[in-house]
Amino acid sequence: MKHDIDFNYYTETYLGKVGELTLKGGNMRVFEKQLVLNLRLALESVEARVWTQAGRLYVSCTKDSVPAAEYALDRLIGITGWAKVRVVEKTMEAIRAAVAEEGKAAVASGAKTFKIDARREDKSFALNSYEICSGAAGVLFDDGTMSVDVHNPDVVINVEVRDKCYVYCAQRKTCRGLPVGVSGKGLLLLSGGIDSPVAGYRMMRRGMKVECIYFHSYPYTSEEAQKKVEDLARIIGQYGVDTHLNIIPFTDVQMQIKAKSPEAYTTLMLRLCMMKCANLLAERVHADCLITGESLGQVASQTIQNLTVTESFAEYPLLRPLVGLDKEEITATAEEIGTFDISILPYEDCCVLFTPKHPILRATVEEAKAIYDSMQIDELVQKAFEDRKIMRFSLRDEIGSKWATKKFVPQTGDCILKE
Ligand code: ATP
Ligand code: MG
Repeated sequence: MKHDIDFNYYTETYLGKVGELTLKGGNMRVFEKQLVLNLRLALESVEARVWTQAGRLYVSCTKDSVPAAEYALDRLIGITGWAKVRVVEKTMEAIRAAVAEEGKAAVASGAKTFKIDARREDKSFALNSYEICSGAAGVLFDDGTMSVDVHNPDVVINVEVRDKCYVYCAQRKTCRGLPVGVSGKGLLLLSGGIDSPVAGYRMMRRGMKVECIYFHSYPYTSEEAQKKVEDLARIIGQYGVDTHLNIIPFTDVQMQIKAKSPEAYTTLMLRLCMMKCANLLAERVHADCLITGESLGQVASQTIQNLTVTESFAEYPLLRPLVGLDKEEITATAEEIGTFDISILPYEDCCVLFTPKHPILRATVEEAKAIYDSMQIDELVQKAFEDRKIMRFSLRDEIGSKWATKKFVPQTGDCILKE
């Protein structure tokens, strides 16, 4: 597909490597379209053009839009890495000049050895990839600053001959995965802990759009605890193009549980009420499944028996992407995506007042259901659902408020909506 980018105006160009998408045969076009759509949406407020061509994603933008483009690329799910590229004419002279510039930059950052990797997608170009490599390498060892090492080079300089010639060095790694939006929608039960944001991110990496629900028991859980969850939802909105955080006032439900449930079952009953409420919201927002950050054996409510009980109350498939991971593995991802520092802030999302001393470890579905029914709590759960507040977090709005170079109207900012 040819494009009509005016490279004199859009002077900065980036290339993204579309990793897993290339494996997907017939679906590839759908996935590519979604990837382009997601990035275009994120960059709507700045001067940028986004397109794909033969397994590559390109963004060209003006100098002013560079911070926005890099910020968006760092958070774009569906590419394995990105690099700034030099776009030059398809002549050996232009290629050699661009390679020399890349080489200079590499030397300045300490590289001593290099390798050139050439790809000739345009077969009408007179030289094959081997000839491009040897032709271009000359400019680097001619001046004696670097030597060739094809096995373990400090720097790889890529030359791709397509409609134009693209020359680039190091790629910044990104989130990989499938573009958000190709795998349906999940409703994430988001608490202020380490696990649930990671669970949401894991599903976004499989192409799932994620909406969030948070159960808040003010004043037993503090305003800071809610603020924490808002900050986590903001990060989910960055990777997931956008998200909504549904804040459910759950104090009355919790009080009823405390009054009516045997103490050992209170945590489990709370989980069941959360499931009931999440079912209602999933239906409203047309979610295909529920997502939690549960991990087998992590706490009393996450034994296989108790997980089975919780699951029996879900009317949608219940996805638990962290079920087989340990805390260290989960924490590593939380650090990578920037949620860890927020999650470890000391505001608890669950009050000791409601935590049983000896929680039931192996409940059965039958007894849990009997206790649940005896609490007569469905009406309160329904009311909490109806009283929810909704916040919206979007990468488009965030980029627009920081770097807009065009007229930009935030869709809602971070303001609170009430349905
Ligand atoms: P996390 O670190 O994700 O908060 P956790 O280790 O604290 O999880 P639990 O408190 O047992 O474990 O919660 C298990 C899962 O239940 C969470 O991962 C989350 O998906 C959901 N959850 C717990 N509390 C809430 C809440 N207040 N609002 C929404 N979801 C919640
Ligand atoms: Mg928690």
